[in-house]
Amino acid sequence: MTVITRFAPSPTGTLHVGNLRTALHNWLFARRHGGRFLLRIDDTDGARSEERFVEAIRADLAWMGLTPDAEERQSARFDRYEARLAQLVADGRVYPAYETAQELELKRKVLLGRGLPPVYDRAALALSDADRAALEAEGLRPHWRFKLDHEAAIAWDDLVRGPQRFEAKLLSDPVVRRADGSWLYLLPSVIDDIDMGVTHVVRGEDHVSNTATQIQMFDALSGAVPAFAHEALLTGAEGKLSKRLGSLGIDHFRAAGIEPEALIALLARLGTSDPVEPFADPAPLVAAFDFARFGRAPARFDEAELAQLNARIVHQLGHDRVADRLPAGIDATGWEAIRPNLNTVAEAADWWAVVEGPISAPPVADEDRSFLGQARTVAETLDWSADPWRALTDALKATTDRKGKALFLPLRRALTGRDHGPDMAALLPLIGKDRALARLEAG
Ligand code: GLU
Repeated sequence: MTVITRFAPSPTGTLHVGNLRTALHNWLFARRHGGRFLLRIDDTDGARSEERFVEAIRADLAWMGLTPDAEERQSARFDRYEARLAQLVADGRVYPAYETAQELELKRKVLLGRGLPPVYDRAALALSDADRAALEAEGLRPHWRFKLDHEAAIAWDDLVRGPQRFEAKLLSDPVVRRADGSWLYLLPSVIDDIDMGVTHVVRGEDHVSNTATQIQMFDALSGAVPAFAHEALLTGAEGKLSKRLGSLGIDHFRAAGIEPEALIALLARLGTSDPVEPFADPAPLVAAFDFARFGRAPARFDEAELAQLNARIVHQLGHDRVADRLPAGIDATGWEAIRPNLNTVAEAADWWAVVEGPISAPPVADEDRSFLGQARTVAETLDWSADPWRALTDALKATTDRKGKALFLPLRRALTGRDHGPDMAALLPLIGKDRALARLEAG
């Protein structure tokens, strides 16, 4: 069996971190099993779907490196949904209903008031042909409900949540098509999953009760019921379902200097019993991906954790991965010198400005003045092609009584204008003789 997963966003907005996590897990699982990962654009809602969001979804997946093996679009498949619906109507599994939203609301309130579950009473099933004709003559158009089999137990072994059981008679027959002809999500999704051979449906736990009704739709359409993995939702760092998470998307992460590898490394493991580790390559994440590792508790998404992970990943990125984002002049040697000090790739520009200058060094303390003068004299005669920092500091150790911080800090300050930064042995050759002499002179 070839594993086929699908990520099925509705293009009514941009993807947020929860959606990105779902997309990633679909991708990881498909890769893990040598399967296929589909992107399905759920654009049945013509009024709310927008082409710019479809493009944004594609771009976000591309940025993450989650390339779909194929793309499908629900709006291209209305004829297919029509045909399958007609068959369900002929089979008596879908029926027309005419209640208005207000009538349904009233029925709900009455049931709730009596302490009963607000399950649709199937009054529409009792209508005769004449009743329906009369309603239609009044100008009413039906919406369509899927008739659940109340006798069948609905059960599945969820890959994340374990055994699940639902009583069909406690569920309302779901509306699958509105009176205006538009489709609700439930049935088209099942038709697609059957036609596209989807073997594993991976989505958020907010879909668990949809799954209960969809399993009966798979059966009614004689489709193989896929396996399901319903994942616990993400919460914000403060532990609550946060509104902010719902608006955090790729634009935000890019602007914050987050690398796709960091987002992947975090989202692949968040909510699992495995440690989050700074993988710059997804291969080990693919190899170890397993829904059994996921817990049922909400997973906590912490931007501070992401930023730390990002820094550890930036420290591993090769020059070729970042070259197009670096200021001109930073070659592989320059990048490797600066890289260990970065939180984000963009910060390389700050260190490159230190290399190229001009820098504004803090005023030299009186007691360092003659020491820096000596340093300048040594620097002038050094062999700059070898390891000038080593040669400079060895010479100064031998000719002054300074060592440790008293030796290094005044040099670092004069040469870079800062107290901290990349390893001076790597930085000094980049600063080079002329600039170094001028900076030591300025002191
Ligand atoms: N379009 C649905 C959603 O975004 C898809 C759910 C599913 O994966 O079946 O919630």
